[in-house]
Amino acid sequence: MRVGVDVGGTKAEAVAIDAAGSIAARVRLATGWGPDAVVRTIVAAVDALGTDAGIDTASVRSVGIGIPGQVDAATGRVTHAVNLGVDALDLAAAVEPALGVPVRVENDVKAAAVGAYALHGGSGAMAYLNIGTGVAAGIVIDGRLWRGAHGTAGEVGHVPIDPRGPLCRCGQRGCIESFAGGGAIAQRWGRPGALPVRDVFDAAEAGDPLARELRAGLAVGVAAAVGVLILTADVDVVVLGGGLTALGDRMLADVTAQLAANAAASPFLRSLRLDERVELLPAGSPAAALGAALIGAARDPEEVLTHG
Ligand SMILES: [Zn+2]
Repeated sequence: MRVGVDVGGTKAEAVAIDAAGSIAARVRLATGWGPDAVVRTIVAAVDALGTDAGIDTASVRSVGIGIPGQVDAATGRVTHAVNLGVDALDLAAAVEPALGVPVRVENDVKAAAVGAYALHGGSGAMAYLNIGTGVAAGIVIDGRLWRGAHGTAGEVGHVPIDPRGPLCRCGQRGCIESFAGGGAIAQRWGRPGALPVRDVFDAAEAGDPLARELRAGLAVGVAAAVGVLILTADVDVVVLGGGLTALGDRMLADVTAQLAANAAASPFLRSLRLDERVELLPAGSPAAALGAALIGAARDPEEVLTHG
């Protein structure tokens, strides 16, 4: 068995996969706040695969962890995981003694990209675009996660698309994330609500001018990210995931319409058929935990990852 743990801001999800890469068990629990609690959450999640899901934890050979923030995959060190209360943590070193197996750590979006690639059939070139509080992508080509020289590959959220656009939390103006990030949309919407982006979609349908502007901006931002990913990496498909994709076909329809509109005046863009190369990650897919398990199982971080 190989285990993967996706540590989210509120929930952690763990899966155990068998030698064929199939998911044999899956558990969820609440994530603790701060470095010590995050370490305890990961150990508890692996234990829960035994106590709650009936996996023989003695048969676990590796653990992979997906976590937000900047991750040095070579050392397992995590920095700036702001929504977990973690400033800096040598995560692999902190959990390995309790787990007793080798541990690898990867950024959660990159882990989700590896999991989405495996769920998608595990061949060719694919990008996973995560649209949550922020916007970021992971790129997998022929089964290998493409990190780039410094792990920055896929940070499309901070590609500026409008020099007069909204100020982004990164300090630039008009980044893709300032239009398409759930955090930026909620801030510009400025009204209370548990699901602000869903409220924006509903209000736009009711004719609210600000909501219509924000909803249109989301489609423009996601379409720009899809364009950047296909034009730089020529991925076959861009799979959309993350919290905002709970809007499902309402959001996907806006994005494909925007991609078609972008291509209307350009025979070159039309020839790339961008609007036919976007898909939603199926709702409820444990992509990040599955990807973390596959990363943990790899003998070396550069090896082909998607076959367990
Ligand atoms: Zn930015």
